[in-house]
Amino acid sequence: MALIVQKYGGTSMGSIDRIKNVAKRVKRWHDNGHQVVVVVSAMSGETNRLIDLARQISNHPDPREYDQMVSTGEQVSISLLAMAIKELGVGARRQVAIKTDGAHNKARIESIDDKNIREQLDAGNVVIVAGFQGIDEYGNATTLGRGGSDTTGVAIAAALGADECQIYTDVDGVYTTDPRVTSKAKKLEKITFEEMLEMASLGSKILQIRSVEFAGKYGVPLRVLSSFDENNDGSFDQDFQDNVGTLITIDEGDNMEQAIISGIAFNRDEAKIVVRGVPDHPGIASAILSPIGRANIEIDMIVQNLSDQGTTDFTFTVNRADLDKTMKVLNDEVKDEIGAKEILGNSEVVKVSLVGVGMRSHAGVASLMFQTLAENNINIQMISTSEIKVSVLIQDQHLEKAVKSLHTAFGLDREDGESKIAGL
Ligand code: ASP
Ligand code: MG
Repeated sequence: MALIVQKYGGTSMGSIDRIKNVAKRVKRWHDNGHQVVVVVSAMSGETNRLIDLARQISNHPDPREYDQMVSTGEQVSISLLAMAIKELGVGARRQVAIKTDGAHNKARIESIDDKNIREQLDAGNVVIVAGFQGIDEYGNATTLGRGGSDTTGVAIAAALGADECQIYTDVDGVYTTDPRVTSKAKKLEKITFEEMLEMASLGSKILQIRSVEFAGKYGVPLRVLSSFDENNDGSFDQDFQDNVGTLITIDEGDNMEQAIISGIAFNRDEAKIVVRGVPDHPGIASAILSPIGRANIEIDMIVQNLSDQGTTDFTFTVNRADLDKTMKVLNDEVKDEIGAKEILGNSEVVKVSLVGVGMRSHAGVASLMFQTLAENNINIQMISTSEIKVSVLIQDQHLEKAVKSLHTAFGLDREDGESKIAGL
């Protein structure tokens, strides 16, 4: 018998038929002798609809009222699911379990009432918890930020010491890259938390980043799997654990057999800015970046060129949505101040990244990456690296070619995960 937390997203809860299907799956797990806690999102589109209503009244709706209102999406889905599970003859209890701080719209979880949940589970009931929300010390509704139901699921799994937190969604797992870009993308059986964080922050939108951090911190085994897979019969056996969805784990596995690269992520939301002809002396980087920081704009990659006759170019990337705002800050507050020659903005760029813990123990990943891009005539505009990641900024029109060729070069197309270069 296992204790399983299952989280169902908006698509999985998107219609009455789908909610009935969720109830059936929960029953299968329950009938197999497992204790099940279910965390649900609002029906798909509902949270957006509610937020839109608030926005029609105010651009800055009162945070306390906003939370009270947007949290109702999940209130509807937990009750519908409780009804559906009871219709199948299984006991189901809704439970308010999450206490948060009072930071409306981005509340932090403070404690979880695991005692009541355990009592209900021991009494043979399925426990249902509303995702995305909690209550503060005064009983006000709070919300955890968009996508927050993932975090609710992980937090409850951590508090209960669950055997697994299963995130049911509309894809059947985490892929080596976006299957819409290459049909050769393969579902991963396992990925580490660290890799998943890189994949998530680089643009794979499967899980809320915070939930992955949380799961990593508390060592909660996290599985992403499809809510449309009817074969999932509720047996938590070896076959299930090896094959279904993608398990996100602390375990780095056996490096000898593991592919060096786990996945290729990309981010289309970047824009590049070049500040040209700036004097090369102390304080320039700070003079350029401080006003941008004050305007609350986040900077991603940064490169400063070698100086040529006392001047240099300073290049960095921001979120594409912030490009105009950044250009304005630079033109208004920085350009004349530091005597820059010109400021250029370019939104036709994309960041492509190789991610893999295997990089730690294998040299040559970056060079194979650059060689592959060169063979495909793709110019690299910027490079950045971390211990388990190499990112390049390239022109956006080359995205597909870059991802496909790297996917092949790093052996991700094939079952054996063998790399093109022997010994790498
Ligand atoms: N319903 C909330 C949202 O759409 C929370 C969630 O689905 O995770 O952001
Ligand atoms: Mg989500």
